[in-house]
Amino acid sequence: MRLVLVGPPGAGKGTQAQFIASNLSIPKISTGDIFRANVSGGTELGKLAKEYMDRGDLVPDEVTIAMVRDRLSEDDARDGFLLDGFPRNVPQAEILKKMLAEFGVALDVVLELVVDEDEVVRRLAGRRTCGRCGRIWHVDFDDKKDDICDACGGSLYQRDDDKEETVRRRLEVYQEQTAPLVSFYAEEKILVGVDAAGPVEEVTRRAMEALAPHVG
Ligand code: ADP
Ligand code: AMP
Repeated sequence: MRLVLVGPPGAGKGTQAQFIASNLSIPKISTGDIFRANVSGGTELGKLAKEYMDRGDLVPDEVTIAMVRDRLSEDDARDGFLLDGFPRNVPQAEILKKMLAEFGVALDVVLELVVDEDEVVRRLAGRRTCGRCGRIWHVDFDDKKDDICDACGGSLYQRDDDKEETVRRRLEVYQEQTAPLVSFYAEEKILVGVDAAGPVEEVTRRAMEALAPHVG
């Protein structure tokens, strides 16, 4: 299964990606996670990406695409993968298509997580991430008062780009640059929409049901 998750920031892509990738036994590849690992590791890529991430803008395509090409060339992605956060605009989608064609494969499904903007803002405002295992939590919905990860005991942190003004910019960037992917993939006849409101487990159930006809 070669799968892409699309939806606004805060829709629950990272949250669902953890469960869907594990259910399907495919690697979860999140460009946001790779950029953040580079930022905390102080690499050249991280220094470059941070400038854009702090503003809520997209990291330039050239840099992002080279990074994804390297990652998709690794052995574990040969038989399938779940992409979270890539592609983020139509040029990235076109290049991904070409890149996969070079490998002799194609995307099977693009799963759109559909949720309204008020809910997305609520979700982003309370998002916490585990610095050790990367698991995503929410202060209210998961009742996280202690900032400790229930999965691994690591410390939770709030992402720098979840500040109010950056969130506003990221939502604009989504509407301007990423939302057009929905019609792009609808035309390719591989788009599947899922209602992403409601409890996490319920959304996972709907997502797995929507993916079932595509699982080989
Ligand atoms: P994205 O990767 O799309 O930006 P995340 O998966 O990081 O979104 O989720 C954003 C926030 O919303 C996190 O704090 C997460 O715990 C919370 N969240 C995700 N799915 C749900 C849900 N179905 N109900 C309530 N909160 C959710
Ligand atoms: P995310 O973790 O998906 O919310 O991404 C966090 C930030 O990383 C984004 O706001 C962008 O600055 C950057 N980023 C992640 N994926 C991409 C991408 N495909 N193209 C460009 N920038 C990206």
